[in-house]
Amino acid sequence: MAKLLFAIFGNPVSHSKSPLMHNLAFKGLGVDGCYGRYHLEEGRQLRETFFQLGLKGANITVPHKEHAYAACDVLDGFAQKVGAVNTIVEREGKLYGYNTDAPGFLKAISAFDAQKVLFLGAGGTARATAAILKEAGYEVTILNRSAGRLESFEKEGFAVATFEAFDPQHYDLIINMTSAGLEDDTLPAPKEILEAVIPSAKACVDVIYGKETPFLKLSRRYGKPTKDGSDMLLYQGIIAFEYFTDRHFGFEEIEHHMKKAFTL
Ligand code: NDP
Repeated sequence: MAKLLFAIFGNPVSHSKSPLMHNLAFKGLGVDGCYGRYHLEEGRQLRETFFQLGLKGANITVPHKEHAYAACDVLDGFAQKVGAVNTIVEREGKLYGYNTDAPGFLKAISAFDAQKVLFLGAGGTARATAAILKEAGYEVTILNRSAGRLESFEKEGFAVATFEAFDPQHYDLIINMTSAGLEDDTLPAPKEILEAVIPSAKACVDVIYGKETPFLKLSRRYGKPTKDGSDMLLYQGIIAFEYFTDRHFGFEEIEHHMKKAFTL
């Protein structure tokens, strides 16, 4: 059997840890697979590029998750619901689409004893994770700097607010779902708002990984436990690997090899 080929599509994509994570798991578990990265400028070319490269599967990162959704022949129920795909598997010439970001995030925060959650940001990542948290019984409030993206959250029954209209309450977890702090030193919301909610929170979480963002630094100054996006990244990768290998390996087995990517 020919070597199985996989890739991550994104723009930018050079920073991605996914090739290292998946190649470590292929090697450790004795799977004849190889995982690379592909800088894709035009999301509409995703499907054609996937087949040209002869891939068995792929992950998709910013800004192509909606294009990945459109590129699939078959969508699993959750990907269908949230309109974003970050994992594609080819089976008999058809592309099957999944969203593993959201279950990865759900697992990452399950370490905390939490019920009420405040999301800072209302982008694609917030959309998928808010839906799965709601299904799991969390109470999620969405706070965003502008009103536009809040409309659809409100229609789905979430409590929403812009910075101007926000009435701070107690939240168990405060989560940065924006890219504020990724390539700059900005906070995801005005400092006065953060200082009104962080002190009573049990913990603060960021989806950005590999650095301590200004948001996490501020949270730590209040003595709060913090968590960056590394576990989310690891867990979404493990769940994607389960799909890539048709659930041939268990979660912990994959984790054992894949997590080495975070210590190399
Ligand atoms: P974006 O990064 O495009 O962010 C969109 C949302 O964030 C919008 O609500 C936007 O507000 C708000 N926003 C963006 N910048 C700022 C800012 N400087 N201040 C305040 N609000 C801001 O969304 P994505 O959902 O694509 O990604 C969010 C983050 O999640 C990224 O940093 C990404 O790297 C990370 N991520 C991490 C993963 C992991 O495995 N750890 C997996 C997937 C994503 P507005 O509506 O007003 O424009």
